[in-house]
Amino acid sequence: MRMATDALGWAIAFAACIGVATAAEPPPLPAAPAQTFATAVVRTTPLGNNIFMFDGSPGNIGGNVTVAVGTDGAIMVDASYAEVADRLVPAIAAVSKVPTRYLIDTHYHGDHTGGNATYARQGAIIVAHDNVRTRMDMEMPNGTGGVRPRPPAEALPIVTYPNTMTLRVDGQTAELFHMPPAHTDGDTYVYFRDANVLCTGDLFFSNRYPAIDVAAKGGVEGMIASAAVLLKLADDKTKIVPGHGPLADKAKLTEFRNMLIAVRDRVKKRIAAGDSEDTVVAANILADLNAKWAQDPMAGERFLRIAYRSLRPQ
Ligand SMILES: [Zn+2]
Repeated sequence: MRMATDALGWAIAFAACIGVATAAEPPPLPAAPAQTFATAVVRTTPLGNNIFMFDGSPGNIGGNVTVAVGTDGAIMVDASYAEVADRLVPAIAAVSKVPTRYLIDTHYHGDHTGGNATYARQGAIIVAHDNVRTRMDMEMPNGTGGVRPRPPAEALPIVTYPNTMTLRVDGQTAELFHMPPAHTDGDTYVYFRDANVLCTGDLFFSNRYPAIDVAAKGGVEGMIASAAVLLKLADDKTKIVPGHGPLADKAKLTEFRNMLIAVRDRVKKRIAAGDSEDTVVAANILADLNAKWAQDPMAGERFLRIAYRSLRPQ
């Protein structure tokens, strides 16, 4: 199967990875709805100071994309899927007449890096945390007993960094910060301080449960800790571009952090009581939260299983 790796499709890929692991590994996660690239519509939202957010709503295909337009070049955050480049490229061209000099990958998942080659061919330098390049440069199971091939060299980050980095074009400055393992072990968040725009990548999902890549060292505790860091950086006027979901603010991020804490506390209590993953799922302990946060019928169970796996003693 195709290595679909967005907030929804990623769970399928993760489940596929589990499926080819050892017999002691837990069962595949419940599947997310299939992608519908053909009907994806890219929507452009101005954030002020010549910074724009692009999302695939209403289908919400791929991760959100941000482009900060300077006078001599632009800085792009995330590239979504290759399959939506035919709509994303003209949407960017409609607001930016300058070349995209830098493309920042917030992490390695395909719904954020799938379009890398398109923008690299246009001259963008791909920038990411060190671990993003390492993970992208591996052969990965494709879920059908085969191997997802290593991406072409042009799709890989060329400039990588360990902790922080600042990128500039004339009129725009992007501050990059690495977060300790949270969604993956290569997460970057990007702050455009002049415009007070914060791009979180998949450290934050607006109005929905997050995907967490436990196989890449992500976990619920790391997500909670990273939300605290982001909340410290944000003020009441900060425009927060989540990895998935609508444009958000500090209040929305606070809700998300509180939801993660509630889930963590409930799951840890069950683990301490000796309950198995299936027992916890059968007890439906997120029923009240699912009404607000479950973005598809299986999302509640999927997130609960991910939470359990990241919180149980390893
Ligand atoms: Zn992701």
